[in-house]
Order: sequence, then C-alpha cells, then structure tokens
Amino acid sequence: MPTEKLVIDRVRKSYGEVQALRETSLKVAAGEFLTLLGPSGSGKTTLLTILAGLVAPDAGDIWFDGVRQTYAPVHKRDIGLVFQNYALFPHLSVFENIAFPLRMRRVGEKEIAARVGRMLEIVRLPDVGERLPRELSGGQRQRIALARCAVYQPSVILMDEPLGALDKKLRDQMQVEIKRLHAELGATILYVTHDQEEAMAMSDRICLMRDGAIEQLGPPAELYFAPRTVFAADFLGGANVFPLTRRADGAPLGPAGEVLRHAVSDIPVEAARHFMVRPEHVRPLDASDTADNVVEAVVEHVVMTGAVTRYHARLADGRPVVALRLTEGPPTARGGDAVRLGWPAERTVLLDGSPP
Ligand code: ADP
Ligand code: MG
Repeated sequence: MPTEKLVIDRVRKSYGEVQALRETSLKVAAGEFLTLLGPSGSGKTTLLTILAGLVAPDAGDIWFDGVRQTYAPVHKRDIGLVFQNYALFPHLSVFENIAFPLRMRRVGEKEIAARVGRMLEIVRLPDVGERLPRELSGGQRQRIALARCAVYQPSVILMDEPLGALDKKLRDQMQVEIKRLHAELGATILYVTHDQEEAMAMSDRICLMRDGAIEQLGPPAELYFAPRTVFAADFLGGANVFPLTRRADGAPLGPAGEVLRHAVSDIPVEAARHFMVRPEHVRPLDASDTADNVVEAVVEHVVMTGAVTRYHARLADGRPVVALRLTEGPPTARGGDAVRLGWPAERTVLLDGSPP
C-alpha cells in the first residue's frame, strides 16, 4: 500500500477525442511543494480537478495517506482549493468569509474567532476582518482566499494559477506569502502555473507537463541544468538548442563541425538528437581566450538591460546563438563584429526527443 501523502496511479481522462490527461502516475511526499508547470492545454487543471474530486478519472486511482479516494466527493477529501477567480462571498465580511469553512464544520464561536484571527495574522491583514471584499485590493482579496482555504488546516492545498489575475509586483509578493504559508502550515501543496519563473522560485519539485503527459519531473535546478528534451530546455528558460550531427565513428559534432565536448549525461550519446547550452554559459572570447567548445559567429545586435548584457549573434549557417553576460562594463562587441563564442563542456547538455 502506498505511504506517500498523495499517490496518482495510472490516472487518465479524455473528453471525446481529446486526451486531456494521458496515463499518468505521480507520488507527492508529505509537506512537499510540487508545481504542475506547462503551456495552456497541457492537462494541469485536469489533473488538479481529479485530485480535488471535481472530475472523475476514466481510469486509475488516487490515494491520500494510503487510502483510496478516487471517487470520494470533494468535501470528504482533506483538501483546500484556491483558484484564480475563487470568489469570496461579496455580502459577507472578510471575517465571515474566512469563518465559513469552520461554520460548515460546526466549530465553536470562540475557536472560530481564534482561528480566523490567526489566519489574518498569517496573511498579514490583521485589521480587515470587518470589511467587505469589495473594500480590498485584488491582492488582498487573494490573500483572504488563501486564508479561507487554509483556516481548517487541510493537509493538502491545491492551487490553480492563483496569482494569474495579479500584476507582476503583487505576484512577487504573493509568491513569498504562499511560501510562508507553506512553511507555517506544513501542508502539502500542489500548485499550477504556466510561468516558469514562478515555478522555479516556489517549488521543491516541478512536474513539467506537455500534451496531457509528464515531460519531466524533478527539482527546479535539475530541470534547468539537465533538461532531457528540447521542449523542457526551451520551457525552463533561455536555451541555445542545436541539432547534433555525428562523425563516421559516431563522435558527436557541434554546430561548426568540430567534436562536441559535453557533460556526462543520462542520455546516451547515441540517443541524443540535439544539445543545449544556456545563454549565460556562452561568452564572447578574447583573441587569447579559449574554451572547451568554440564557434565563430557574427554579432547582430547587443542589448544591455542593466544587470545583464545580451549578445545576439548568428553562425555562418544562419542559426542564432545568444550569449548573456553580467554587465561589468560597456559591451565588448557591437552589431556586425565577428566574434568567437565559447562554452564549457559541463554546460553542454545532450537532449533526446524531437523538437516541439
Ligand atoms: P491546462 O490547465 O494545462 O491549460 P486543461 O487540463 O484545462 O489544461 O485541458 C487539457 C485539455 O483538455 C485541453 O485540450 C482542453 O481543451 C481539454 N478539456 C479540459 N476540460 C475539458 C472539458 N470539460 N470538456 C472538453 N475538453 C476539455
Ligand atoms: Mg488550467
């Protein structure tokens, strides 16, 4: 019998011809913050609504704490839900909104006052209990929605793009708020987003989804530094992706036809179809400089955004390559300059699979 907090075992779901979720298995540890990351339509919400009990799967099972809950109704599951537009009751005060799940569970008045007060402290809005939702800003309302979902201390919290409607600055604040809540409550959190920076900043592990299936699952750094596919490489940040060619003896060749020096990889060299190097690992070389891998390119334009400077260049065959450096002074090359670009073997990541 499974002992993890949550076990998703060979679950799938179709809507007519659309395979919203292909056969998927996933285990989530108690207290983990796991993010479902992927483009629109990749099956994130489908998986979350199956966990919540809002949608029944076509096949497979869901286990909470080793108990099979595949068909248990929403209110029988030990979960809290927060959605992007999870509306507060407009005619109830903030206090009563947060108290609502406790009243449903027939908690006593004194206990309600104590727990609502504590939640208001946790989301750092101790003085708004008497207000109506319309008297709060969007970010404050979302914090109250968080408080309402967490007040009865569910051991699992499911959040579907809860910050999607907020502007960038509020999102950054709320990310910190949610992480604090996670630390204070010790709940297991399943979080959905299509924003890779949000996923990287918040998660213990990221479950990258594509077309109704898990593309790759691992800690943020693993997905960033060791993506397995072209899709994963592109989705997690800037990526220079090149097709891998091969010499007659099988040795992998880089874009300039020289033998490619690459990182030790789970993906056998014979299986690799592409390789990736992140822009921040590529640097323009001085005449006397060398690197494990070197290509010649022509700079097209240079963009200095403040802390970083980006060199957009093209190889002789027309393929683009981007080098990104911390800005330590004025750019070292300009549009039209011929440059040599270099990067280390250990930052050269072999990829399998076909391009998206
Ligand atoms: P995501 O949350 O990653 O954007 P969803 O899980 O909402 O993706 O959707 C996955 C796929 O299933 C999409 O192609 C979507 O159009 C389809 N889908 C989701 N829910 C329904 C539904 N109730 N009826 C028909 N198709 C649906
Ligand atoms: Mg969705």
